Amino acid sequence: MDALERRIPVTPRQVSVTPKGLRWWRTGHPWIYRDDIAKGDKSSAGELVRVVGPAGDVLGQYFFNPASKIALRLVSRDDAPVDRGVWEARLRAAIAYRQRVVRDSTAYRLIASEADGFPGLIVDRYGDVLVLQGTSLGIERLMPLLLELLQEAMHPTAIVARNDLAIRALEGLPREAALAAGERPGPIEIQEGPCRFMVDVWTGQKTGWYLDQRENRLAAARVARGRALDAFSYQGAFACHLARSAESVVAVDSSEAAVAKIAEHAALNGLANVTPVHAKAFDYLKRADQDGARFDTIVLDPPAFAKAKTDVPAATRGYKELNLRALKLLTPGGHLITCSCSHNLDEPAFLDLLRAAAADAGRTVRVVESRTQALDHPILLTLPESKYLKCYILEAA
Ligand code: SAH
Repeated sequence: MDALERRIPVTPRQVSVTPKGLRWWRTGHPWIYRDDIAKGDKSSAGELVRVVGPAGDVLGQYFFNPASKIALRLVSRDDAPVDRGVWEARLRAAIAYRQRVVRDSTAYRLIASEADGFPGLIVDRYGDVLVLQGTSLGIERLMPLLLELLQEAMHPTAIVARNDLAIRALEGLPREAALAAGERPGPIEIQEGPCRFMVDVWTGQKTGWYLDQRENRLAAARVARGRALDAFSYQGAFACHLARSAESVVAVDSSEAAVAKIAEHAALNGLANVTPVHAKAFDYLKRADQDGARFDTIVLDPPAFAKAKTDVPAATRGYKELNLRALKLLTPGGHLITCSCSHNLDEPAFLDLLRAAAADAGRTVRVVESRTQALDHPILLTLPESKYLKCYILEAA
């Protein structure tokens, strides 16, 4: 047994849940909330604990963090020791799954938290570099072992920890981006289907790239034609894919740093028909309408408007307004590729507001494709939060 293995306690400590917690557990959801804990010793924070129901029956082994609202995160449904071999097998399974589902791309999500059995861990691969984000205290404690396993299995030239996310504060974790292994990487060239991009894993949004939209970008390119608009473009990823089949693409984003990269990405792909615009998307759409501009293809990929449940009413109005404006700008037979990454706004609610936008725009709209996040971001059936991305390809008569 090596030093890392000893860090995993042989006999886990126990935390018990209330009858309400047990009823919630029966739904299969892998989290148990702090309010549903009957008894748990705070000194076990960060440990893998055995969770029992009110009658003492074992519910599973969980990462415990009494400081977080999500106090328990399911690691194993049985009582067998969760040792190095268990984590290694989960990593191997995650790698094998990506080998099956990722096509023609050197950048993808290798570990997607609960959906791969690593609660609170994201690992993205950009060529030879791995970028991770930890969002649970349990994962933070396991980090030396996880780094070792990732190095053994993937042989990356570097592992970057982009632990500068705000939500780490909810777990009482420090926020910083740091080199966890290897040599500090500069911008990394990735290939995504027929396009190439330069990713800065230190300063980019998320871990550097919106990997979850990869398959949707390819799908959007299949319907793109004529004059195209990529609103909320970030660094021009959709724009470059669209530009391969459209005559021209306007790529709009409100982040100056992001817009600065759009022209670079167009040039890298030999595309002379992409126009970057630094503007707020709402303002741009309003102005385009006043100017009588029309588009044959529009992509809407806004940031999450509903970060919390209480944001849903305002977010719904925002999404509806945005989609209404876009539909008004579409030529007959034009396509709207419209996305929402707010998991608080579920699929039926998103469809409802799209319906309302179509009705207000007086357009007859067909759903050409109903899509979600790329397959390397698996959805756990009992964790509705893991299905967050909605993407509809619509055709307006
Ligand atoms: N479509 C991108 C990802 C978009 S993420 C891709 O496939 O890579 C959302 C983007 O919206 C971010 O780049 C953010 O800078 C931008 N953004 C946020 N608010 C905005 C606004 N009001 N107008 C335009 N862009 C905005």
